[in-house]
Amino acid sequence: MLKFTDLDRKTPKKRSSSERKMDFQEIYNRFESDQAEQQASRCSQCGIPFCQVHCPLHNNIPDWLMLTAQDRMEEAYELSSATNTFPEICGRICPQDRLCEGNCVIEQAGHGTVTIGAVESHITEVAFENGWVKPPKPIREHKQSIGIVGAGPAALAAADVLRRRGYQVNIYDRYDRGGGLLVYGIPNFKLDKSIVTRRVNLLENAGVKIHYNTDVGRDISFQEIRDRHDAVLIATGVYKARDIQAPGIGLQNIVPALDFLIASNRKSLGENVPDFENGKLNSFGKRVVVLGAGDTAMDCVRTAVRQQAESVICLYRRDKANMPGSRREVQYAEEEGVEFKFHAQPEAFLGDTAVSSVRAARIHLGVADSS
Ligand SMILES: Cc1cc2nc3c(=O)[nH]c(=O)nc-3n(C[C@H](O)[C@H](O)[C@H](O)COP(=O)(O)OP(=O)(O)OC[C@H]3O[C@@H](n4cnc5c(N)ncnc54)[C@H](O)[C@@H]3O)c2cc1C
Ligand code: SF4
Repeated sequence: MLKFTDLDRKTPKKRSSSERKMDFQEIYNRFESDQAEQQASRCSQCGIPFCQVHCPLHNNIPDWLMLTAQDRMEEAYELSSATNTFPEICGRICPQDRLCEGNCVIEQAGHGTVTIGAVESHITEVAFENGWVKPPKPIREHKQSIGIVGAGPAALAAADVLRRRGYQVNIYDRYDRGGGLLVYGIPNFKLDKSIVTRRVNLLENAGVKIHYNTDVGRDISFQEIRDRHDAVLIATGVYKARDIQAPGIGLQNIVPALDFLIASNRKSLGENVPDFENGKLNSFGKRVVVLGAGDTAMDCVRTAVRQQAESVICLYRRDKANMPGSRREVQYAEEEGVEFKFHAQPEAFLGDTAVSSVRAARIHLGVADSS
């Protein structure tokens, strides 16, 4: 350990922007085993590990880094999965630059953070390859049945824990796949869908029953769900888009982010998506403007690039230092050719039937207030 003094930080190999713009595949390759061991050995094994303190799951990061550095991979997996139901998913999409890696002591000391996320994914991929990841198996079965509405990550994590404890678990989702926004919202270039399906399959093999295409409140009443089960968990996520009030907002081709991303993801899954085929939710050949600069906005600009938009502009009212999303995602978007316009507040949308331009006012940051 403590190799950070003479070993530089290295991430897994990143595909070039010109190559990755042409497809929706993940942008990072995987670590080779010896690279993961070396990178894990850079950790200084802090007495107070700020990586762990700033992890919402309080993952025991220093210990599984040490086990990886010592090539004790099965133990590393045991430890990393003890606090996290899906470490290979968090390793890929957690905003590490704001959490563990952003607070890593050697990053603060100017040596470059330990590549915690990439090592975390590596550990679980090795575990899958070696057959160490097994469907949750209860020691004792209980007859009590739990109904879960929604099959997103919140629901799947709860199902995993409940099944391990022996409860009978039934999940109801309006979609035809499990994973929620991991499948339909987050693009493939951040998280390949097969990674999510692998977990859903494990849960189904463990006896979790997923009722697909079942919209609770439409196909089945909530009362019926309550009558069927001893307890119910509602894990339906958040889907309401934030409205924007400005002249011209009703013009064609102004679309909420999630509609656009869901259509793109469904298309990548090989489905027939009429609004993609007819051009409504497809940015091919268009001049695209994305309003806002959070992580969802970054997913939209980078999806538009891959759909071969003519140009992609991100319009944001604050400046780069005050962007709400992950710095890494912004950097990837810049590498892929997205143009950022800061201090620009949209005022009106212009055009006859479809939008053809956005009028924005130049603004400047005021003094920070309590909001
Ligand atoms: C574009 C985008 C990018 C994101 N990127 C990241 C990222 O990089 N890193 C990160 O950590 N987080 C990211 N997030 C956030 C992350 O996806 C969410 O926090 C997470 O998916 C929430 O999980 P959930 O299970 O609560 O809800 P969801 O994933 O939304 O799942 C809810 C499920 O409930 C189902 N449902 C809803 N109503 C009903 C009903 N009445 N009947 C039956 N089923 C119903 C839905 O079909 C859905 O499958 C992103 C979100 C978006 C939108
Ligand atoms: S903060 Fe960084 S150096 Fe310290 S234990 Fe965590 S990963 Fe290791």
